[in-house]
Amino acid sequence: DTAKDIKSLIHSGVNVFRLNMSHGDHKYHKKIFKRIRACSTKTGTYGAILMDLCGPKIRVGKFENGSIQLKKNERVIIRCASGIGSDGIIISQYRQLYKDVEPGERILLDDGNMECRVESVDGKDVICKVIYGGELKNNKGLNLPDTRVSVSSFTAKDKMDVKLAMELGADFVALSFVRTAKDVRGLQRYMARVNREIPVIAKIEKPEAVVNIDEIIKTAYGIMVARGDLGIELPAEEVPLIQRVVTDKARANNCPVIVATQMMESMITNARPTRAEVGDVANAAMTSVDAVMLSAETAAGKYPVKAVKMMDCILREIENHQWSTGSFGSDSGGNFDRPSSRRAVAHAANALAHDLKLQGVLVPTDSGHTAAVLSASRPSSPLLGLSTSIQTCQKLSLHWGIVPFLINRLESQNWKLLSQESCHRCKLTKTGHRVLLVSGFNDDEALNEPVMKIINVKS
Ligand code: PGA
Ligand code: MN
Repeated sequence: DTAKDIKSLIHSGVNVFRLNMSHGDHKYHKKIFKRIRACSTKTGTYGAILMDLCGPKIRVGKFENGSIQLKKNERVIIRCASGIGSDGIIISQYRQLYKDVEPGERILLDDGNMECRVESVDGKDVICKVIYGGELKNNKGLNLPDTRVSVSSFTAKDKMDVKLAMELGADFVALSFVRTAKDVRGLQRYMARVNREIPVIAKIEKPEAVVNIDEIIKTAYGIMVARGDLGIELPAEEVPLIQRVVTDKARANNCPVIVATQMMESMITNARPTRAEVGDVANAAMTSVDAVMLSAETAAGKYPVKAVKMMDCILREIENHQWSTGSFGSDSGGNFDRPSSRRAVAHAANALAHDLKLQGVLVPTDSGHTAAVLSASRPSSPLLGLSTSIQTCQKLSLHWGIVPFLINRLESQNWKLLSQESCHRCKLTKTGHRVLLVSGFNDDEALNEPVMKIINVKS
């Protein structure tokens, strides 16, 4: 996490940095946040920062030596009190655990890699037997698939963390273990009341969230298919189909999708991914999700930069093919709840980009909304999001296919000149190429007078 590391991550293809509030204190996150911003400025890029709130994620505490070994059939105590763990004793950061569990229920550790069964509860100690053992490290997750957990979805710690996100100016906050759209609205209202609303990414990792997916997609800015916890809370074999259905629904609603967890898992220790991992990343790209995410691979693995480069290579391989065949599973258009000129224009821009083999689509965008809608229709040429706001440029980094571009002035611009300049600056085009400029949107639908202009590029 030095500036040099962050810069090589940026150069290897990172567009969004996740700060996981489950690990590290505010001082640490502040330092890294500022370092990422400084590195972005130095490299002339607009990476976004997503602060991931733990929500009611239950985690184990720390261990004297950083980890302990759990052996099959051994007895361990999960203690609901402060302190530090040691051989045979695991601290639960969730202090009410002893009230919620019953004998016979499963307690899964570290994304389900280890499993214990509750034998009895003694005061604040939960006595368990190890079913599947392994090495349990500091702060790993703890799941209770058989238990009704009483913890609320927006915790006191989340409140502190979201305040930090607002103070630092994070581009996104993610909320873990969302169950309903109400959970998302609760966070949005809290932010609006305290300061300002940061766009919320709802993490889909509970069975309830899958049931309520339609309303969650309509409420959140974006969603994350958080396969780590999802595959523990639900049978793992249900995850691929959920990923597919949720992706399609989100895309149909202009809602950006992140696919997360175990994508390059073996690269935590190996220099090469397994072929299955390569296939997994490729599959996500083939369904045109907005982002694929790495976790421990970059946060704690041996090959963080290599893992990013590998992922970048796979995405380029698939997308090259998609560009050449124009097959991004583009928006078919027309099936909107309400007529929307943005979406209709996006659909038309898509057709023009494809039929005329345009080299790019340029979109002056203030809040980022127009560029986001165009991205959601997956046009078969790169999108340039031109904005005067660095915050907008950062936000657009999450969206599929957008190259964000900071410009000086948006109003009364000579669009043709601006397009020439931007094309020149991003080296996307050569003399003789043609690009499409899409502009003229207003937040008030009645004032919308969209313009599409085909521009001949000169060097
Ligand atoms: P986490 O979320 O890494 O914060 O647990 C992602 C997931 O559960 O897949
Ligand atoms: Mn999770």
